[in-house]
Amino acid sequence: MSQFFDYKDLIKEGDLVLAWLSRDNLKPITVKDGEVFNTRYGAFSHSDMIGKPFGSQIAIRTKGSNRYGFIHILQPTPELWSISLPHRTQIVYTPDSSYIMQRMQCNPSSRVIEAGTGSGSFSHAFARSAGHLFSYEFHEVRYEQAKQEFNVHGLLESGNTTITHRDVCKDGFEIKKGDTTSHTFSDPEETKMDLNADCIFLDLPAPWEAIPNLNSVISKERKATLCCFSPCIEQVDKTLEVLEEHGWQDVQTVEIQGRQYEARRQMVRRLDDAIERLKDVKRRKTEGLEKRQAEKERGTDGILNVEAIDSNQDSKPTEKTHFNPFGKGTRVKEGDSSFEWTQVSKVESEIKSHTSFLTFASKIIDHTRDEEQIKSYLATFKD
Ligand code: SAM
Repeated sequence: MSQFFDYKDLIKEGDLVLAWLSRDNLKPITVKDGEVFNTRYGAFSHSDMIGKPFGSQIAIRTKGSNRYGFIHILQPTPELWSISLPHRTQIVYTPDSSYIMQRMQCNPSSRVIEAGTGSGSFSHAFARSAGHLFSYEFHEVRYEQAKQEFNVHGLLESGNTTITHRDVCKDGFEIKKGDTTSHTFSDPEETKMDLNADCIFLDLPAPWEAIPNLNSVISKERKATLCCFSPCIEQVDKTLEVLEEHGWQDVQTVEIQGRQYEARRQMVRRLDDAIERLKDVKRRKTEGLEKRQAEKERGTDGILNVEAIDSNQDSKPTEKTHFNPFGKGTRVKEGDSSFEWTQVSKVESEIKSHTSFLTFASKIIDHTRDEEQIKSYLATFKD
């Protein structure tokens, strides 16, 4: 059972929980009785987490004050893991991975190839949705770390993930007995794994060197869909050449430009308000002229009598904010019930997505029509 894919109610000793400190500060913790999670809001005891439902808020009193510091303890998901995992490489974030998976129609019957594994960010999302994930990493330390992590997170135990130490550009994707892989060849008859892959994701510096090695491992009966994740357009260019050379079709390159929208309220500004404001300007002008005239007649114009003017101002309080929703006058708090507001959305400037070019292509190896299957499919439309 993987904590990432199966719903769990209560936190137990040994569970992985993600401590939510703020929107951009999420920390993974393995719960151990007697240990403490130190934050700038205070020290949170792991024993306070045991037995609590996932999603709970844990609060502690800040030393020497009456204030409380709190965190939320969440169940891990591939999306939350992507924003909390220890980075060993650049990673693929959810705005890209979710788009890629839906474009490749990744589903529980999919057999996915992923190279390289890197920090395992995308691997968790693939492992949750796919039938089987074959992940490859040529950096030995990263391979060992990812294998260990997949094991702790239950990806290997669930049986749908295999990680292999391999340079896929040099040595291809086939997995045979004796290779450095998480798969155990327990059946003496089994000498190699049947990959039969229909989704291929390449996050490599030189995907064009790996593409020629795919033919022997992609599905012969089903359409295979490929996605190459490349930050530079020069890489895309080389990939396109090799895709064409090796018979890949429906080639398309796209880029995800992630934007996060923030819901806000904006004051409604009406024509009547504008007219009222102009009338107010005119009224003040007239009042000012009349005041000047009176002062002239009293002989107090020129060097102004400050006291007289001040007391004059006191006697006429300005009404400016009552009909001036145009930014002048006193500051109006967003949502102030004396004004009318409308909901708007504004773009937040920051979003975590590593925007690379995504090149999609597909390939059908066996073009033979299965007449029997077509007949039975068409029969379902009769009547
Ligand atoms: N997609 C990953 C994630 O979301 O965490 C990040 C992948 S990272 C950018 C690229 C990885 O590919 C690196 O760990 C690198 O060691 C590995 N790599 C590069 N060339 C490779 C090759 N020829 N065969 C296997 N792995 C390779």
